[in-house]
Amino acid sequence: MKVALIGVGQAGGSITERLARFDADAGYGAVVDALAINSASADLESLSDVETLLIGVDQVNGHGVGGDNELGAEIMDADIDQVLEVVDGGVSSRADAVFVVAGLGGGTGSGGAPVLITHLTRVYDVPVFALGIVPGRNEGALYQTNAGRSLKTIAREADATLLVDNDAWHDQGESVADGFDRINDKIARRVGLLLASGEATAGVGESVVDASELLNTLQAGNLAALGYAESVASDDPAQNLQTITSTTRKAVLTGTSLPDATAAASALLVVAGRPDRISRNGVEAARTWLEEETDSMQVRGGDFPRDAEELSALVLLGGIERSDRISSFVDRAREAATADSGADQDPVDQWANDQLDDLL
Ligand code: GDP
Repeated sequence: MKVALIGVGQAGGSITERLARFDADAGYGAVVDALAINSASADLESLSDVETLLIGVDQVNGHGVGGDNELGAEIMDADIDQVLEVVDGGVSSRADAVFVVAGLGGGTGSGGAPVLITHLTRVYDVPVFALGIVPGRNEGALYQTNAGRSLKTIAREADATLLVDNDAWHDQGESVADGFDRINDKIARRVGLLLASGEATAGVGESVVDASELLNTLQAGNLAALGYAESVASDDPAQNLQTITSTTRKAVLTGTSLPDATAAASALLVVAGRPDRISRNGVEAARTWLEEETDSMQVRGGDFPRDAEELSALVLLGGIERSDRISSFVDRAREAATADSGADQDPVDQWANDQLDDLL
């Protein structure tokens, strides 16, 4: 799938840059444009591989908004004409979708991304998705509240939001802050492979994933998560039957970007590796398992031929809003905002809950 990436805020800019670099280094060509927008000039100066745009100069003079996501939203709104003008050069006819990338717990990205997404969905025919970073459990009440309000608005405005929890992909024992570099690398590699998987169409078999399968899985609901795992492969595909099923299980059960988010409306299994090592029976068995695990009838599957020693399983889960993990995140955000647990609510209704104020 060919995408234009727009990072907003510090996390958004860093992850956008990593994704663009991963895609360019591997030569996949899935990222057709990459732009980083921020109200803090120092954060933009550290980015070298993406176009940058400073907003809110009149209000904060390049110093950022701290954790004030309402100010982040105001600044994006005030400068939206200039932003859309710069974006327009990048969202060319080549892009199948736009991804707005942001840390949901901060200020510029948390507040700015929902405003930008609202405008982009009005201007463009292609789907506008969000890649949203959810704060880890130890990240303090302001981050949780900001993320809850931002996500509530983004989930409503974007065509779908792919969530990555900052607790999900960092190694045991390292703090989230120490681990940003490594987390960002993992996000870039995993999301980068997912985007590239829909691009590998030249000269290979019909079981290859295409962009429409990615789009349809994402659009099965408001919220999505991505599972990833890899294993050493044998040269003999028959020997890899077990490897493919066990790697798929690992991707979903211990490798998702939002831990414990397994109830999904739709799923896409991508098995990446050398085509002559991929066991068809293994892929079929893994898909059957995925149908049972996600309780979804809409499980798509395909290969991503790639010259790598390992076999990887990528599992995109679409429509995860009924997952326990989402309810506990919303509870956490609401508790931080109002000290009310609201535990007996239907998870889907929580998005309409007034106790968690909308940003817009
Ligand atoms: P902004 O610049 O005001 O939009 O704020 P940030 O992007 O710093 O957002 C803060 C949130 O994003 C917090 O939850 C941080 O833990 C997280 N965050 C900040 N930088 C990074 C990063 O480089 N990678 C990841 N994964 N998360 C980040």
